[in-house]
Amino acid sequence: MREPVVGIDLGTSTSAVATVENGKPRVLPNRSGRSLTPSLVGFTTEGVRVVGDEARLLAVSRPADVAAATKRFIGRRWDPMLVHEARTLVPYPLLEGPNGEVRARIAGRVLPLTQISAMVLGELKLDAEAHFGRPVHKCVITVPANFDDNQRAATKQAAHIAGLHVLRIVNEPTAAAVAYGLTSKFEGKALVFDLGGGTFDVSILEVESGVFQVQATGGDPVLGGEDFDQAVVRWLLAQLPLAQRETASRDMLSLQRLKIAAEQAKRELSQGDEARITASGLGDHGPGGTLVDVDVRLSRAEFERLVEPLVARSLDVTRQMMEEARVAPKDIQIILLVGGMTRVPLIRKRVAELFGKPPVVGVNPDEVVALGAAVHASEIVAQDGETLLIDVASHSLGVGVYGGGVRKVVGKNSAIPAVAREVFLPSAGGQNKARIVIYQGESDQAEQNVKLGEVLLSDLRVKHRADTPLEVTFELSSEGTVSVRCMDLTSGLSEALRITQRTELSADEVKALRAEQAAYHADQAHPETRELAEFEILLEQGDTLRRALEAAARRSDDEKERTATVKLVEDLRALVHLGRTAGLSKNRAQMGDVTVRLGTLVAEATAGHPARGPSGDPPVGPDGASSSAA
Ligand code: AMP
Repeated sequence: MREPVVGIDLGTSTSAVATVENGKPRVLPNRSGRSLTPSLVGFTTEGVRVVGDEARLLAVSRPADVAAATKRFIGRRWDPMLVHEARTLVPYPLLEGPNGEVRARIAGRVLPLTQISAMVLGELKLDAEAHFGRPVHKCVITVPANFDDNQRAATKQAAHIAGLHVLRIVNEPTAAAVAYGLTSKFEGKALVFDLGGGTFDVSILEVESGVFQVQATGGDPVLGGEDFDQAVVRWLLAQLPLAQRETASRDMLSLQRLKIAAEQAKRELSQGDEARITASGLGDHGPGGTLVDVDVRLSRAEFERLVEPLVARSLDVTRQMMEEARVAPKDIQIILLVGGMTRVPLIRKRVAELFGKPPVVGVNPDEVVALGAAVHASEIVAQDGETLLIDVASHSLGVGVYGGGVRKVVGKNSAIPAVAREVFLPSAGGQNKARIVIYQGESDQAEQNVKLGEVLLSDLRVKHRADTPLEVTFELSSEGTVSVRCMDLTSGLSEALRITQRTELSADEVKALRAEQAAYHADQAHPETRELAEFEILLEQGDTLRRALEAAARRSDDEKERTATVKLVEDLRALVHLGRTAGLSKNRAQMGDVTVRLGTLVAEATAGHPARGPSGDPPVGPDGASSSAA
């Protein structure tokens, strides 16, 4: 029996977790029996954490106590523009963290957005564990194709905090194409149009003999269902009497009520021609303020007029991506719609008009990404390599040059993994240091791109610029993460830098958050899952001790002691292996036996030899030390 492995679609509005069972991918129900979990985290007045559907309920009465749409801001650098963007979208304030990362003030606490995503992921982990009846660690997580390096890294960090081991980050459209391609046995050129709650992604893939090759990708990271909701909110505000219109547009509770009503109406208009919208208690909630109710009807035609500019924006991005890829609409055989927003009839209609053919039917736009992630996860674990994913760089990468420009080294839509090299000359003679600044983005102007980091080469002896060529090598992994090396070709001196994720949380903070999440998880997990997780930790400790003993044996020059230590190492190795098999098959008798024998071995190993004891951090809780389990 294999350890369970899951695919996770961590969405802006909703998330889903899926797995492959009996050769078929399926979305796992959450513990309330639903396939989609709202990506919401809130805190009650008693300080109790609520996630998903419970948080959605809380948001009705206490919007500022619930974090919503955090995916829009994760991994981004805090700046006043972002705060401005957030003000119109979410009812909680964004603050700057110590590394320039974004934090949210929710119910009186300041939380890094990475932690909020970790809490959503933690909930999905609990749901999957309730399904399997055992701990779940391994997963594939999807991200929008246009997520940059920082956003990908922050998502991975969130997974780590949640006690998950990410096998691979996969782009959402690619995952969708995998799920569809495998079930329909489709071969040819597919366009994936993915409009979710907060982001828009569009990709072209070529599917041939089990190889899914992304050819081009584009999108708008700040275009999604939230913007459609806001268009309706503005219309609703215009229906209020002038006095309340003013106050309601500045009142968080009123705005949240209108947003919930607007989103509901948007969904209804995907089915019917008219939606009735009611919301009460709108206006000034301060002392002496007056409140009004709204009860209006919104026709589908009026809704379409309100959101037409947003739909046009998504089509412009699609056209531009196709132009860049030199693909004409007639070259596309299959159009796959992904994301809840593609249920909006106007979007389906406009996409069909652009391509002269309707999108495929029978694909659940809310589930297809998680299903594809699950397929890919199970293939990675089985290592049968049935499908091969070849993705592309979603952004160009370049080096800052004198005068504020950027020289591109890896072009957008280059196939990844990729390695690219370029030789630069220092900006002036006489320098003994060169600072190579790395940018991600499409602009020729450095300041309009995202700065990823810098490599500092010191000890240069530059008399003349031309004497000191500097070679910069970029490596883009298959997950879209970047590393850079810079070499002084004259001296051979080289400086390698994995791009420092400036918006990542510090190692100490991650450790503390991971421990906090592990404690929460232990509290929420089913007793059986908890027991298995605790057993895994015990095995992990046994394995840590085994490694410490192995190192001690290598260092020892006392033959007798070395022989005894090597024997202990072998006994521990065999016992941990036996324990892992017992845990996977939930063989309780064997687990008990292993626990006792492990205790004896640990006592034997450390008796009189404190230096042999396991080194490293003590376990942080039932889930904390388990990332390398079985
Ligand atoms: P996703 O990020 O893929 O979960 O997309 C969620 C977005 O899709 C949210 O903005 C939802 O309001 C929207 N959505 C979900 N279902 C529908 C529907 N039936 N009609 C219109 N919009 C929908």
